[in-house]
Amino acid sequence: MPALSIKALSKLQSMVFPYTCPLCATPLDETEGCCSDCLQNISPIPQSTCLSCGIPLNPTLAPGPCGACLKKTLPQQQTHHLYLYQNVVRDAILAWKLQGQDMALNFLIQAATPQLKQLFSKQDILLPVPMPMYRMRRSGLHHSADLCQKIAHITGAQFNWQILRRKGVHQRQSSLHGKARQRNLHRAFQLSLSATSRLDTYSSKGKIWVVDDILTTGATLRHACQVAKQLKRPIFAFSFARTWHK
Ligand SMILES: [Zn+2]
Ligand SMILES: [Zn+2]
Repeated sequence: MPALSIKALSKLQSMVFPYTCPLCATPLDETEGCCSDCLQNISPIPQSTCLSCGIPLNPTLAPGPCGACLKKTLPQQQTHHLYLYQNVVRDAILAWKLQGQDMALNFLIQAATPQLKQLFSKQDILLPVPMPMYRMRRSGLHHSADLCQKIAHITGAQFNWQILRRKGVHQRQSSLHGKARQRNLHRAFQLSLSATSRLDTYSSKGKIWVVDDILTTGATLRHACQVAKQLKRPIFAFSFARTWHK
């Protein structure tokens, strides 16, 4: 049997294993990108946002803080999000968090490479919003740390999960409401004892980012940033996707 050329081999491979949309698994003729339906349903954060909390603003408004941030300043200097938490973006996050499948998430991160490179420099330090230790030990997963690692890989930013820590055993935020939720959060985070010496190993020129996967009310990220402020450096906040209802 004659040897197959590389071209013929890759053609054969694409016939046996056609390229599929990384978001919905529909077979595609192309060999990269996603299908047109998914493309329509990807919701990047609008250009016009409140720099302080990151909520989308009406594009006709002059750039500046939103009404809530005018009244109350946040511990973080800026907040950025990559996507709105809906449609295929929500499906990608759920597949990653609930089933451990990160192909769709990786695709969405890859697709946002220009935005990520604009946001994060090689000197920046990414601190994942920490999970309670008992939950991390039980599941073996730490989603925001996983996300930091993926972003660090693309942007060259530094990543450290040992500076910002969770303290004690606390109830799941989703099981609490209102004031109880706030109280629970208020005492949930602390800096590790070696935080300052760990931070000293990085360039002092970089920004410090507190990173979470999904932002709902912003309370968790805000409390984590409040504690990170004890590092005496300007703090910035980032989430992969934020929920948003007009
Ligand atoms: Zn698709
Ligand atoms: Zn705002």
